[in-house]
Amino acid sequence: MHHFLWTSKIVTNQKLMKRITVFVCVLFCLSVGHAQDLSYYLPDSVTYNPSIPKPKDVIYHEVGEWHVTHDRLVNYMKAIAAAAPDRVKLEMMGQTYEGRPQVLLIITSPKNHQRLEEIRQQHVQLTDPSKSSLLNIDNMPIVVWIGHSIHGNESSGANASLLSAYYLAAAQGKQIDELLDNVVILFDPSFNPDGLQRFSTWVNQHKSKNLVTDPNDREFNEVWPGGRFNHYWFDLNRDWLPAVHVESQNRLKWFHLWKPNILTDHHEQGSNATFFFQPGVASRVNPLTPDKNQELTARLAKYHAAFLDRIGSFYFTKENYDDYYYGKGSTYPDVNGAIGILFEQASSRGHAQETANGILRFPFTIKNQFTTTLSTLEGAKNLRKEFLAWQRDFYKTAMTESVNAPVKAYVYGDPNERAKSFHFTEMLRRHQIDVYALNGSLKLNNLSNSPASFDKGSAFIVPANQPQYRLIRAIFEKTLNYKDSLFYDITSWTLPLAYGLSSAEVNATQFNQQLLGEKITDVVFPQGEVVGGKSNYGYLVDWDEFYVPAALYELLNNNVLVKCSNANFEMEINGGNRKFNYGTLLIPIVNQSSNADQIYSLLQSLVKKYGVKAYSLHGGNVVSGSDLGSSRFATIAKPSIAMITGPGVNATDAGEVWHLLDQRFNIPATHLEPTIFNRVDLNKYNTIIMVGGNYAELNKEKLKTWVQNGGVLIAVEEAVAWAAQSGITNVVVKKIKSPVDSAARLSYVDREQVDGAQQMSGAIFAAEIDPANPLAFGYHQPTVSLFKANKVFIEKSKNPYASPFYYKDKPLLSGWVSKENYDALKNSAAVVISTVGNGRVINIADNPNFRAFWLGGAKLFMNAIFFGRNIDAAAGRTE
Ligand SMILES: [Zn+2]
Repeated sequence: MHHFLWTSKIVTNQKLMKRITVFVCVLFCLSVGHAQDLSYYLPDSVTYNPSIPKPKDVIYHEVGEWHVTHDRLVNYMKAIAAAAPDRVKLEMMGQTYEGRPQVLLIITSPKNHQRLEEIRQQHVQLTDPSKSSLLNIDNMPIVVWIGHSIHGNESSGANASLLSAYYLAAAQGKQIDELLDNVVILFDPSFNPDGLQRFSTWVNQHKSKNLVTDPNDREFNEVWPGGRFNHYWFDLNRDWLPAVHVESQNRLKWFHLWKPNILTDHHEQGSNATFFFQPGVASRVNPLTPDKNQELTARLAKYHAAFLDRIGSFYFTKENYDDYYYGKGSTYPDVNGAIGILFEQASSRGHAQETANGILRFPFTIKNQFTTTLSTLEGAKNLRKEFLAWQRDFYKTAMTESVNAPVKAYVYGDPNERAKSFHFTEMLRRHQIDVYALNGSLKLNNLSNSPASFDKGSAFIVPANQPQYRLIRAIFEKTLNYKDSLFYDITSWTLPLAYGLSSAEVNATQFNQQLLGEKITDVVFPQGEVVGGKSNYGYLVDWDEFYVPAALYELLNNNVLVKCSNANFEMEINGGNRKFNYGTLLIPIVNQSSNADQIYSLLQSLVKKYGVKAYSLHGGNVVSGSDLGSSRFATIAKPSIAMITGPGVNATDAGEVWHLLDQRFNIPATHLEPTIFNRVDLNKYNTIIMVGGNYAELNKEKLKTWVQNGGVLIAVEEAVAWAAQSGITNVVVKKIKSPVDSAARLSYVDREQVDGAQQMSGAIFAAEIDPANPLAFGYHQPTVSLFKANKVFIEKSKNPYASPFYYKDKPLLSGWVSKENYDALKNSAAVVISTVGNGRVINIADNPNFRAFWLGGAKLFMNAIFFGRNIDAAAGRTE
């Protein structure tokens, strides 16, 4: 409160008394927890249009007094747009999973609004090198996207958006007019509406009239899984590139519609910190990001520093945070000709909290966020031409670089994986990457180093010579060289490997323009069919396509008996011989509770819905292999699934399973809290899933008994180690050698670097497979790319059949791993089967469902769910 004491002027008694009264009132108001009114936040010497509603007029409380709920936030944005239609236009980008609107305000001067579409079209041409040279940037406005609180429990951003919206709509005078004439602001008040709503409900319900600042208070300690995530417990600030979630998809549509020059990403960090703004750590900038990007970031940073100095706030730059992974909101713009700016405000979490820097109050955190929005806009206005010129140059140089690049195109696609190709193409198109049907046929080595062929009809080609060249490299390339060994997030994400999709580089001698077939404009979901029509005998379905587990579940859920082949065989289909692989589903007609017509009509709807092919049978005699009546066809039980969720469990890992089963495969699963698990009857479940996490509260004896009685336990990551330690399995988890020789003297300042290098931030490894093992059904490449971001290294089982996925001595495909961790991984098992009584434990050391874009691991996971109980007991026994 120093601003009440600073005056050294002699003032009249009357004035002094008035000041003292104000002082006392402010002290009193603060002590009972009332937040400041707008004058605390807004720059003085600005007048405001009285016809624009203040936040309190709409949301019923002062900014910072309570955490704004998403509903009220949207009400305010609507009110602003209604009151200032000449400056503010409200757009609906879409809806979240929970049906909350994602709103975008477009804020600019009345003059610009009158020709908004013209401005947009002209602006977007900056990213088109064939047209951008003709543009005159002298009078073009700069486009700035202001974004808030992608982590719902980092809410000072979203709360500050109330102030920014008010300021931009209501401020009057030369300064604001000049700003709005030169800037088109795309204003996103909440990147993660569902998370914001969850968090605001939590902190508001725990607020005391006399603010409790003790960090131990319930207000600051949310219940699992907290407000950080979206509905499915995903971190949306990792999803800008994979764009798995509706929130990201809706946002990307508008991002590319406008191609902003600057995008801000307002976050919060630990409560004891101050305020961070980019640039981050220089050695950790993605090498595909040109240096000029960081130069402009630094120039903008001068404005943040000056504005924060003015209000007395402390800050830091060039530490902790980086611009490496393009899936983050502050980094994705960097590979799109823009500049992403990360802001990290120390979090008060609730309304006021004791910290190393004194009591951190919510209004103070909001003020810093608001102030850096103003500094961003001021910098954008002043550096307008530099940013516009940079965007144009970024795309021009992308074209020239691509001409000189050794890789001329990337191909991908597999006739048996049409749904995955569909999703991959969909993802590329979201980023405005041009994709063509492959016209011709190529035999190449794929990204996992095995020979592959790419054919017309099932393969796609992405030429490098296009404006999104750098982003294409970011998606397709493998990375093995790094300047730094510390990472804020994952070290590699080569997306074709993640999707488990065959893909290869096409070099200059292999490439020619004729390979580009029809340009893909509409991405069409693969067509399913029942080949041969209705059968009175039965049907076969390949276990290849991504969505076939969903079709299987619906069949089982309709009480259709389905079997699975444990052998390869060949049959006559439609007059020709066709090979069927391990895992092929057999649907007999005889002895079913439904008749042939009902089964045919169900199957017809399923093949269409899930893009799979079924083959009609006329008899059970095979050309080669086992006949269809053989015991090598095993009946599949309908899985009834529970997943352990709640305190201790890694929420994002659990969310990945929830999303996979619910969104992709339409399979319901019960989410069991450990305390509920410990008291309920488990017999209604035949499958229990445990993802990474800590299970100290779980009754291990109860779980073991359940497995012994025939249950299938799928243990992933740390749960593998837990099950071993708990005596449920005898899986051997390796101990890792420390890289530090205890006799060696190391400098204290090196500690972060030495310890950090031993983290498994996340890299991609090739696992060898046993294709005859039920857990590997549906995989046809010799290796499967798995993602490892943990230190669970397991020994191969002594039983030669019990480690169907394992690593050889050079498994690294892409990413960074320390020597010590790599040594532990080499020749270890990725998956181990444990027979426990009548049950099975499927131990999966790595995360097969990583961030929901690791489609290549889904088959392993679904195999464990559907086929785990059919694995021969002898294949998992070690005594
Ligand atoms: Zn954050």
